[in-house]
Amino acid sequence: MQVEDSTVKKALITGINGQDGSYLSKFLLQKGYKVYGILRNSTVCNLDNLEFLGVKDQLELFPANLSDLSNVIRLVDKIIPDEIYNLAAQSSVALSFQQPIGTIEFNILSTINLLEAIRIRNTKIKFYQASSSEMYGKVMTFPVNEETVLHPVSPYAISKATGHWMAVNSREAYGLFSCCGILFNHESVLRAEHFVTKKILSTAVRISKGSQEELRLGSIEIKRDWGYAPYYVEAMWLMLQQDNADDYVIATNEVHSLKEFIQIVFDSLGLDWENYVIIDKNLYRPSEIDVMYGSPEKAKRKLGWRYDLSFQELIRRLVKEETEYQENKENQT
Ligand code: NAP
Repeated sequence: MQVEDSTVKKALITGINGQDGSYLSKFLLQKGYKVYGILRNSTVCNLDNLEFLGVKDQLELFPANLSDLSNVIRLVDKIIPDEIYNLAAQSSVALSFQQPIGTIEFNILSTINLLEAIRIRNTKIKFYQASSSEMYGKVMTFPVNEETVLHPVSPYAISKATGHWMAVNSREAYGLFSCCGILFNHESVLRAEHFVTKKILSTAVRISKGSQEELRLGSIEIKRDWGYAPYYVEAMWLMLQQDNADDYVIATNEVHSLKEFIQIVFDSLGLDWENYVIIDKNLYRPSEIDVMYGSPEKAKRKLGWRYDLSFQELIRRLVKEETEYQENKENQT
């Protein structure tokens, strides 16, 4: 029988096979953690991101239904984690307009169940909630910070705002160590294909290799604060290493339009974006955030979190990684 080393910290990550879950797994393994992950309770689970980062075989993965409290309690009892990172969510704003009930149901229920499991079974477990800049929605004062009033404008944002307040309430009402990371858009080669930034990057790289395709997009006038995902997962971990639980904005405080994003991607591949991009009004959202950017001042001051990539550097890095990613895939087939 294998004896467990009680000095090794145990982390449980929900949504472990997503973009952030994959980078966070790698980060925590490098820190010496034993990492457990929860996958969707289904026969089709895509583990490509974990394989791509070379971490899949070092993890213990469990299929589970996070909407079922008894299932969550059993997992918490079995693993007895020191830290839980709740990253699982229907994470697409666009899809949330088509599936508002599914988005609200899963994103809220899964969060409440995890918090209830901690409260009922083991209040020493530290909890990280993946909150989102989308919660701020229609704001008028910038940069956004932890004090800015929420005004969500999509079912996704409403689900995240509720999860956020449940996590805050668990801290205030029951003294749980429950932190919310209010992350602004962060990108990487592991972003799912249906997100606009990945769609732009992957299409542009294919076009640069001779593909005869067009890039169909909704509004490109929207302005956002974009960061690099592998650097953002460090902030999640830092939040759980503090003496007191708190909430933090994780952002760059730089704002750029999607049009600028497209221009730099195509420029760095030696292409003129205007020859390939088609604006399709059918892709506009029923309600959209025009501008969003945030100040990471508190995270810098209290967590010592640092972010040093400019927007141009970020995009050049994303283009390079996407190009290598596609070349790797081609070599494998
Ligand atoms: P992601 O790549 O879309 O990953 C989401 C994860 O949640 C995946 O593992 C997915 O599993 C899982 N999931 C979705 N629906 C599920 C369900 N019904 N049951 C079980 N698992 C389910 O998202 P991400 O970019 O890593 O983001 C991580 C978290 O941060 C999310 O909660 C997201 O909302 C939040 N966030 C992200 C950003 C950003 O810019 N990336 C910004 C702010 C907040 P499958 O692979 O099986 O679908």
